Amino acid sequence: MVPKFDVRKANAEKKYAGDLSFTFEAEPSLVEIPFVSISSPVEANLHYEILEDDSVEIAGGLTFTLKGNCSRCLKETERQVSGKVEGYFVPGGEDGEDYSYSNGVIDFGEFLRDSVIFLMPSRLVCSETCATPDYKED
Ligand SMILES: [Zn+2]
Repeated sequence: MVPKFDVRKANAEKKYAGDLSFTFEAEPSLVEIPFVSISSPVEANLHYEILEDDSVEIAGGLTFTLKGNCSRCLKETERQVSGKVEGYFVPGGEDGEDYSYSNGVIDFGEFLRDSVIFLMPSRLVCSETCATPDYKED
């Protein structure tokens, strides 16, 4: 389940800033590395701030674990990936680079998908040797 954030409720309760921590299942299709998948729910620790015009700033970190075969030697391996993400949500219509939300509720689905893709490494490697770009193949 992708979490939602009720901006109207937070405003009504005068919680104009706060923390949101949750886990969610990432879609398997977000991983484009062969023989690799996300092996656990993605952990999100985000901070939100509602601005005067009801736009909402979200910033924080995501952590997930990639598991599968090393992209170079095919040995079974896993690696934790974490990094910072941020998003800006504007009430109402679409506005280029920003996310929009309607009816006072933010659906984090698109933002979380984009964030996982943003943090996704291009390959999974089991060791420093396999990570070295000039490692000789064959
Ligand atoms: Zn390897």
